[in-house]
Amino acid sequence: MKIICTGRNYVEHAKELGNAIPDEPVIFMKPKSALLQVHTPFYYPEFTNELHYEVELVLRVSKNGKYIQEKHAGNYVNGITVGIDFTARDIQDELKSKGLPWEKAKAFDNSAAVGKFIDITPDLQRGNINFSLLKNKEVVQKGNSGEMIFNFDKIIAGISNYFSLNIGDLIFTGTPAGVGECVVGDELEALIESQSLLSVEVK
Ligand code: ZN
Repeated sequence: MKIICTGRNYVEHAKELGNAIPDEPVIFMKPKSALLQVHTPFYYPEFTNELHYEVELVLRVSKNGKYIQEKHAGNYVNGITVGIDFTARDIQDELKSKGLPWEKAKAFDNSAAVGKFIDITPDLQRGNINFSLLKNKEVVQKGNSGEMIFNFDKIIAGISNYFSLNIGDLIFTGTPAGVGECVVGDELEALIESQSLLSVEVK
């Protein structure tokens, strides 16, 4: 199982970090050890002083595939939820400035918090899914899948040109604007529409 993540997939978020708008999906990965198991606390990592949350829609892969065409991409996922792509922003900024890979900032243990999956049913309007993140019960991030630069089908097709997709893989689809810091004691809760699917306490 692997976790594939999409970077810079919302215009306003790319701008807030001073990044260019990409012309193909920006892809990076997290290993299996990055998955935060449900009901496991998240411990603030020792190596960062600037831990950021990024709320994202997460897809669950249900069929093996490679070189998947966009028009068939929907057949390869069957579940959706919200996740948090925890990011050591200070480390990432340093790595980016040196042109080095991001893994230390993005792929550390428990950096991928994933909520409870709901089925992708035909009536789920894939291009119009509202999701949000609450920090200590206040909304800090809000997104809609219609605002993505690359929609689900383009992400799935784009990833599969480089990496085989396997059953159980998870795809983080990018964060909207509003990323910010969290500190020890914060409670994070992520929702699709009004359905709460993930809660994480930073310890
Ligand atoms: Zn992200």
